[in-house]
Amino acid sequence: MATVTAPRKAATPQIRQSQLFIGGQWTPARSGNTFDTINPATEEVIAAVAEADAADVELAVLAARKAFDEGPWPRMNARERGRIMMRLADLIEAEIDELAALESLDNGKPVSDARLGDIPLAIEVIRYYAGWADKIQGATIPINGNYFCYTRKEPVGVAGQIIPWNFPILMVAWKWGPALAAGCTIVMKPAEQTPLTALRLARLAQEAGVPDGVINVVPGFGPTAGAAIVKHPGIDKVAFTGSGETAQVIMRQAADQLKRLTFELGGKSPNIVFADADMDAAAAGAHVGIYLNQGQCCCAGSRLFVEDAIHGEFVERVVAESKSRRVGDPFDPATQQGPQVDKAQFDKIMGYIAVGQKEGATLAAGGGRVGDKGFFIEPTVFTNVKDEMAIAREEIFGPVLSVLKFSDMDELIRRANATNFGLAAAVWTRDISRAHEAAKRLRAGTVWVNCYDVFDAAAPFGGFKQSGFGRELGEKGLEPYLEHKTVTVSLS
Ligand code: ADP
Repeated sequence: MATVTAPRKAATPQIRQSQLFIGGQWTPARSGNTFDTINPATEEVIAAVAEADAADVELAVLAARKAFDEGPWPRMNARERGRIMMRLADLIEAEIDELAALESLDNGKPVSDARLGDIPLAIEVIRYYAGWADKIQGATIPINGNYFCYTRKEPVGVAGQIIPWNFPILMVAWKWGPALAAGCTIVMKPAEQTPLTALRLARLAQEAGVPDGVINVVPGFGPTAGAAIVKHPGIDKVAFTGSGETAQVIMRQAADQLKRLTFELGGKSPNIVFADADMDAAAAGAHVGIYLNQGQCCCAGSRLFVEDAIHGEFVERVVAESKSRRVGDPFDPATQQGPQVDKAQFDKIMGYIAVGQKEGATLAAGGGRVGDKGFFIEPTVFTNVKDEMAIAREEIFGPVLSVLKFSDMDELIRRANATNFGLAAAVWTRDISRAHEAAKRLRAGTVWVNCYDVFDAAAPFGGFKQSGFGRELGEKGLEPYLEHKTVTVSLS
């Protein structure tokens, strides 16, 4: 049984922003509507937030368009853009405790995770892209004839950015960082489950000197506010992180205008432990791989492949660690796992746990709800999982691990790759040749060797196959926000 601490009322951070942020102004929705955002640890309402729909998106796009077409942001010295972004990063750092509390309250993640993980990386990402602002350069090209040919990299325009609820602050940084560095302007829709920190960051951006209209934040729902962003002809590019189903809808809706798209979607990532691996490190990696962020990671290592020679011993360790995981109050510094983000996710995960049992997998740890208030789920391990079971194929997005057994490399690679996803994979082994061979053969955008969930602002991240297209972070992450222009000048 997982160690349980009772969810208590959070040391509530102040909710200072709950309106839309459009053209540098805080404003209610045109309709006057609001929606409640819920604390998933207590199921209590935190705040009523202005609910944007198409009418508000219209205003936000107008503001972003004006800021792009006429405003200072794309025109100022690139180094000055970088300096303003640096100031934004400094302001986030100065408010890190308050932001961590707000993130934890809205999302349910342990406050220590937000404080020590998400927000420091968000700050890094903004600083990293601030450094890029004055280093976005074209090339000169030796073409045939008496011409001078060069390329320019220019901002793509107004970026529509639609983000999920699992890493609200971090997703803002991943989206704003490259867009701002490139000189784009932004209409962002945070997820309806977690709108509060994006609004707070908008205030900090304004304080840092980001000109009005460059960043607009319109909380609301997908089919209304989200769809309005996707369909609006004033939006040049849409960056979306979320589910594959929503990405399909967005792609269809964006088709009419051939809108530029980047998608970061789901996964069912294989986390592979060979018999020669460092057992302590691999067991810790299996744990982090599945349980980080309550299992709500697109790159979660939800398929744990264990070589048959060590299967029994390794599974025992994973099960024991799962049972000792501390689930409970996100504001208790000792808590390792908070609640799932909302009831819909909770119900979906509990549904998969029931399906796993029905399919004949062995429930080796967890499987139940924790407490009777809040969306807490026990860390759950299924063993004897077969490749064709739903719990081995479908993204559960919760603290549910499927353990599979393998016996040789070719079989392993075939099975690990037998999925429509391709976001991440990990390999645990002391054999360097085997590690590189697996890294080469695994069809995934990121492969970790003897580590898991190592992210860096400079290292690109994104999916093969149905896990998405385009990359975020690193130099690659700038590309979707840039147009390349070729200029050819006759010299005769
Ligand atoms: P999840 O299942 O993780 O909530 P979604 O893909 O539904 O993933 O949501 C991710 C983001 O996409 C959220 O901000 C959500 O509001 C938004 N969204 C959902 N449906 C649409 C849609 N039809 N058009 C645009 N955005 C949408």
